[in-house]
Amino acid sequence: MELKTDFSLKAFNTFKVEAAAARYVRFDSENEIVDFLGRNPLDGGRRLVLGGGSNVLFVDDFNGTVLHPLLKGIQVVKSGRQHIWIRAMAGENWDDLVAFAVDNGWGGIENLSLIPGSVGASAVQNIGAYGVEVKDLIDTVEAISIHSPEKIRFTPNDCRFGYRSSKFKGRWAGQFIITAVVFKLNRKADFVLAYPGVKSAVERLGPVTVETVRQAIVSIRQRKLPDPALIGNAGSFFKNPVIDGRALDGMLKLDPDLPHYPQGDGSYKLAAGWLIERCGWKGRGMGRAAVHDRQALVLVNLGGATGLEILELSEQVSGAVQAMFGIELDREVLVVP
Ligand SMILES: Cc1cc2nc3c(=O)[nH]c(=O)nc-3n(C[C@H](O)[C@H](O)[C@H](O)COP(=O)(O)OP(=O)(O)OC[C@H]3O[C@@H](n4cnc5c(N)ncnc54)[C@H](O)[C@@H]3O)c2cc1C
Repeated sequence: MELKTDFSLKAFNTFKVEAAAARYVRFDSENEIVDFLGRNPLDGGRRLVLGGGSNVLFVDDFNGTVLHPLLKGIQVVKSGRQHIWIRAMAGENWDDLVAFAVDNGWGGIENLSLIPGSVGASAVQNIGAYGVEVKDLIDTVEAISIHSPEKIRFTPNDCRFGYRSSKFKGRWAGQFIITAVVFKLNRKADFVLAYPGVKSAVERLGPVTVETVRQAIVSIRQRKLPDPALIGNAGSFFKNPVIDGRALDGMLKLDPDLPHYPQGDGSYKLAAGWLIERCGWKGRGMGRAAVHDRQALVLVNLGGATGLEILELSEQVSGAVQAMFGIELDREVLVVP
């Protein structure tokens, strides 16, 4: 465990903005978390559980406690004829877990290759990409309550997973430190290749295997998305809006080209990046922050931008979409005031 005061978080957020935490605590084991919370009740104070910082925007210094569980370890906990259960600690890098599964030939997780961040946050965010969401792989989420430092296990049903959301992001925000997640993977892969461009990219590499799917996804992502190691960003800043059929009809009258994807329940998902591009914001900057020139859903730090500058850019962008389409964009990124 390591406890620091007035600690810079610049290296701990992929936007690479400067922000200091009044107090920062790094944990290397579950027992350290239980001990710390037992001795330092955090009930009243501001607190933030941090993973890889790839979906947060610090707008100012954080005048509370940042809790950083860097617990490591991946183990097989159960093995059946068709499935295999692996338990990964919250501080494991998400893509290392995907690589581990793929190296062993276990399927279900390969479409989620190269998503930045930690295993713990994957359950908070219900991460998803290329037709797969992590909620369909999660067996159990293990956590420690901030209030009464005891270990709790949640089923997927408890977690109320939705599109890039869960109870950990809603009502339970700041209440639990996720310590580990158990995933149920397939021994015999059941590939999801329907997302546009995926099947052809895989087939170019050879027979469809978990390895070729991973390779294809990695190369698609490397082509399309800015690498946070080179240019600060947090992936999609906004969620794709979901609207009902009537709202869609109205929008199609305004713009017949509007891409829309039926969700199977009468609702339609729109591409927020397309709406932003249509408003003329793709590639446009505001000071040291900009909308990425290849993927309009991603805001980037061109170098030295403050969190406030990025937030102000995001407000201009969402204001433009609201004015042109009457749609309010929800943020995917957690803005930490
Ligand atoms: C280039 C790029 C591409 C991306 N592509 C995708 C994508 O395709 N699909 C997708 O879904 N996301 C994507 N993201 C977003 C991001 O990778 C995910 O949201 C990821 O799960 C965030 O993980 P993190 O560890 O960095 O979490 P953080 O940003 O540190 O935290 C995110 C949230 O989780 C909470 N949290 C983190 N760890 C814990 C824990 N142990 N216990 C309790 N709460 C916790 C935080 O409080 C916060 O609310 C992308 C980001 C980038 C930069």
